[in-house]
Amino acid sequence: MFLTAGSMKNETLAVHGGYESDPTTKAVAVPIYQTVAYEFDSADHGAALFNLEVEGHRYSRISNPTVAVLERRIALLEGGVDALCASTGQAALNYAVINLTAMGTNIVSVPQLYGTTYTLFGHILPSQGVTVRFAESDRPETIEKLIDENTRGIFCESVGNPAGNICDIEALAKVAARHGVPLIVDNTVATPILLRPIDYGADIVVHSLTKFLGGHGTTLGGAIVDGGKFPWKKHAKRFPQFNEPDASYHGLIYADHFGDAAYIARCRSVYQRATGAVLSPLSAFLLLQGIETVALRVDRHVENARRAAEYLRQHPQVAWVNYTGFTDNPYHALADKYLGGRACSLLTFGIVGGLEAGKAFYDALRLFKRLVNMGDAKSLACHPASTTHRQMSAEEQRLAGVRPEMIRLSIGIEHIDDIIADLDQALAASQSPRSALIAAE
Ligand SMILES: *Cc1c(COP(=O)(O)O)cnc(C)c1O
Repeated sequence: MFLTAGSMKNETLAVHGGYESDPTTKAVAVPIYQTVAYEFDSADHGAALFNLEVEGHRYSRISNPTVAVLERRIALLEGGVDALCASTGQAALNYAVINLTAMGTNIVSVPQLYGTTYTLFGHILPSQGVTVRFAESDRPETIEKLIDENTRGIFCESVGNPAGNICDIEALAKVAARHGVPLIVDNTVATPILLRPIDYGADIVVHSLTKFLGGHGTTLGGAIVDGGKFPWKKHAKRFPQFNEPDASYHGLIYADHFGDAAYIARCRSVYQRATGAVLSPLSAFLLLQGIETVALRVDRHVENARRAAEYLRQHPQVAWVNYTGFTDNPYHALADKYLGGRACSLLTFGIVGGLEAGKAFYDALRLFKRLVNMGDAKSLACHPASTTHRQMSAEEQRLAGVRPEMIRLSIGIEHIDDIIADLDQALAASQSPRSALIAAE
């Protein structure tokens, strides 16, 4: 393998990582291995595969050659030792957490989360006996206060969706290490092109591949990457699942058998094998196509977002713009440190005239698509309070960084003149006589 971790830059790994021309066919594009199962040479070969003594595929609920290329590519991009793909980002998040927890344990999370992650953490995991303790902010000291002997991990989004906050990953990783628990980072918004959390001490990285990595709004997918540095053996009492014989896998001890790669191996052999939220080979193929251009796209997304944010800020009908690229943004210093000054293309703003004017703006958009998604090549607009964060109470919305009038924009890769023209005409329409009347009240 000429492409190994650190051997080349992410722009190159995004195009080539995890794949060399297929040895049997010499196919240069990654083949779609649309197969459920794989033939054994003999009974002994089958047994050795099931004992995890030899490498190879058995059944596509556990692994598949096309998906495996994507897993290797994402692991390389994030600087991890191994990765597991899942059918969606949510499935990946669920696996990432349940692989660490058991009934009676907890994880500690920042409050600024993607809406469905909040639902998973606030409602679904607790119904299964795993508590998620939400800190009052993303400050490391507010997280540390909530850690106790039953804590099994710290969770954050490197860049919060839609709050746009940037977590101090290095500081959070120190807190996690001090308490002997892994730091799990959802890196969906930043992508490994802008930020690699493992470089700053994060242990586990989770992605929705549905967004910037896939990049074209065609395919759902998720991934979990293991940095390979968490000392599972040292914390054997806290993490018996990696250190004691697994009865569901003929007595295998993951930390012994897989060493640094124990976390992903267990996730695959236990949860993916038994609950099956797998990525299809066709989806893996489409996501690999998307990833080839992610570095180029992110460059354009970032530059267009900067121009759009500057346009919005000077507009008299815009009340506020939350964009970390502005020097007066409270997260600007963290954006400089973690994103190399290249603020993400997800930004939020509020219109003069509040909720009603916001809705009029939203309805008037022509180029921007009205939907709940982000990270598409296309420019997208979302109204979180009525959609992604609708299930939350007003107080929960406030903590998650969602305001009633807030519009979230995901700036695409179209020509910036056309993006600004659409914002301009929709802002004019938002101040129609009806909303102007409401604004005056
Ligand atoms: C979209 C998103 C998810 C969920 O991903 P799906 O692929 O839609 O399941 C999780 N986290 C963040 C930050 C997201 O933006």
